[in-house]
Amino acid sequence: MTVDAAGTWIEGPLGQPLRKALGTRTANALAKLGLETVGDLVDHVPRRYDEPGRLTDLRSLQVGEHVTVLARVRSASMTRMRSRAGAMLHAVVTDGAGELDLTFFAKGQGGLRHHEHQLAAGRTGLFTGTVSVYRGRRQLTHPQYQVFGLDTGVDEAEAALEDASRPIPIYPAGASVPSWQIHKAVQTVLGPLREDDVPDPLPLALRERRHLSTRLEALRDVHLPAADEDWRRGRRRLRFEEAFVLQTALAQRRAAVAREPATARPLRATGTPSLLADFDAALPFELTDGQRAVGEQLARDLAADRPMQRLLQGEVGSGKTVVALRAMLQVVDAGGQAALLAPTEVLAAQHARSLRTLLGPLAEGGLLGGAEHGTQVALLTGSLGAAARKQALLDAASGAAGIVVGTHALLGEHVQFADLGLVVVDEQHRFGVEQRDALRAKGDRQAHVLVMTATPIPRTVAMTVFGDLETSTLTEVPAGRSGVVTHAVPASNPKWVARTWQRVREEVDAGHRAYVVAPRIHPDDATPGGRADQAAALAETDDVLEFLAEPDDGGERAPLRAVLEVVDELRATPALVGVPVGMLHGQLPPADKERAMADFASGRTPVLVSTTVVEVGVDVAEATVMVVLDADRFGISQLHQLRGRVGRGSAPGLCLLVSDAEPGTPARERLDALASTPDGFELARRDLELRREGDVLGAAQSGRASSLRLLRVLTDAELIADARTEATAVVEQDPDLLTYPALAAAIAERLDPEREEFLERA
Ligand code: ADP
Ligand code: MG
Repeated sequence: MTVDAAGTWIEGPLGQPLRKALGTRTANALAKLGLETVGDLVDHVPRRYDEPGRLTDLRSLQVGEHVTVLARVRSASMTRMRSRAGAMLHAVVTDGAGELDLTFFAKGQGGLRHHEHQLAAGRTGLFTGTVSVYRGRRQLTHPQYQVFGLDTGVDEAEAALEDASRPIPIYPAGASVPSWQIHKAVQTVLGPLREDDVPDPLPLALRERRHLSTRLEALRDVHLPAADEDWRRGRRRLRFEEAFVLQTALAQRRAAVAREPATARPLRATGTPSLLADFDAALPFELTDGQRAVGEQLARDLAADRPMQRLLQGEVGSGKTVVALRAMLQVVDAGGQAALLAPTEVLAAQHARSLRTLLGPLAEGGLLGGAEHGTQVALLTGSLGAAARKQALLDAASGAAGIVVGTHALLGEHVQFADLGLVVVDEQHRFGVEQRDALRAKGDRQAHVLVMTATPIPRTVAMTVFGDLETSTLTEVPAGRSGVVTHAVPASNPKWVARTWQRVREEVDAGHRAYVVAPRIHPDDATPGGRADQAAALAETDDVLEFLAEPDDGGERAPLRAVLEVVDELRATPALVGVPVGMLHGQLPPADKERAMADFASGRTPVLVSTTVVEVGVDVAEATVMVVLDADRFGISQLHQLRGRVGRGSAPGLCLLVSDAEPGTPARERLDALASTPDGFELARRDLELRREGDVLGAAQSGRASSLRLLRVLTDAELIADARTEATAVVEQDPDLLTYPALAAAIAERLDPEREEFLERA
């Protein structure tokens, strides 16, 4: 076996073109599935397995049963059908004791010639199908069958019998090649392979310790199982391998960054004036235990001279921002700068505003009346006016601004920092490895990086999607919150809908605020506005990331509610007479967006009709009601985020999910799940369960990126965690995998730039 510069196997049986191994015709058909080499073909593993038909004698056949029978053809005859156009082949088979009919239909007799030829009287064969009854006689319609030649020996018949009792592999197939043909092809190429021909990415010691079979054994198990336990064992071993290869790549990334030097930003000694100490003293609440513990972890990370690479994930409203802020202040205290990246302008502006408020005079460093050890907060977004932008850029470059808040515009190359020490990425579902790298590389030396997810994600998803980071988790929300009660409201019930607006009125009268979220902006928008609006919101951040995976249940339905239309409706709703209604969506000019948020926060417009731009992070303590129209159009984590916008103060929150989704539909299941639990981690788990396998890593998983398709982050959670432990150990001992050529080659081959896309998209 040989490896070329790109790490691909260029010799050996696995690299052999299928044309050579199977002939041009079969190879051409398989090429349509993207299978070019023997290696491709053996990696094309069955999607599932059908049970073999139970071998039965003809007298005891039960109607409805899926059976395989061994029998001899007594007669076969072709007839033209009288009742409808077409032809029929009728055969009778017998096992000496009983009889059974076989019937085949076709448009014309030509379509039946093949069967007629195969089912010559006197021939013996195996027939598989489901038993039905026609005119009192039991029959199989279009059975699968395999007949033996007239000269078939006893051995061959017995082998066929044994074959018939095996699980039947069902392959991902196409119109050009049916599953059984793939199976035959795999059998042909797998037969002659020896252990040496199939490099195994799993180190020998690990395989022995975990009692795992070799790669070749695993391939035989999944392609040619004699029993169910075989393919289960083989599949498990291949999944472990897949997780292990991925985790090794991620461990290498972690190790590579950890080798880079970073500037240590230790805490100031107690007693010395510091922004952090002042900030803590001014904080109007106690930190939760979780916030304290994670805070200590971050403080340690930042004090080290290697770059922090950490993911902070947590429940919506668990107070991640404060934790991040404290880390930023530690860095500023140590003489460095911190950058805070938000996914939208609305959020960036809010962060800058609340930072300045929280820091008070501390945020007026260098200004008259500002604290001496204070600093400045600069806001840098794509839509700033030229002068403001120039000033912000200047403050970042001179170091006058210790904290720079922005959207992804901050990633722009022209943005310079005097001494960037920490980058915090807030509220991102998806923030690729590449972007993390770009950020880290902003300074002369590597900056510390903290990534915060918007919603809770299951542990093994974090390990996979954010596998290059270490993880900290906040599970509790601060005490004293009354929480959010969630109800599904049927849109077709006018009484309930009227009651919804009545509730909004009551909250407004009590001095609270209400969000009303709709999926579209314009009523005549062809595209569902949620996504378009997200795109608009993100376009302004210079970097459109695929942010949302909106579920689409398809089918005909009433037009989606639109912000512009709902605003008018609410203004005319009797229950809301005299209540000012504001409006917010991604297509508004930035100044209007700011004003809409400010007016809502201040209570000038206590009702805000909006698209999902309020989805993440928006923090208005007085907001108590969240009404989501066409709620079934949103995903679970999105809805969980949305309801996280209310019940943030001491008054209890109410979330009303208005939808016409029928009970029992998947859409309705999502809403019911939300109503049933406030626990974001539990919801994230259910969300994954409700989705199709593979969606976890993005829809772009093509059929051929076979390795990730198998990996099921929930059911294989333990396996992924084990693989991560093993991979970390291997990389610690041999970072460049010099003693593991097969593993290095598997990483290069399976995670080449194209396939590594999932990391970038993550
Ligand atoms: P998220 O984790 O969703 O980003 P935030 O950081 O936005 O949560 O915090 C939500 C709200 O809770 C904010 O208004 C914040 O000031 C407040 N908060 C944070 N920590 C605490 C705490 N320990 N006690 C009380 N309120 C807190
Ligand atoms: Mg937040």
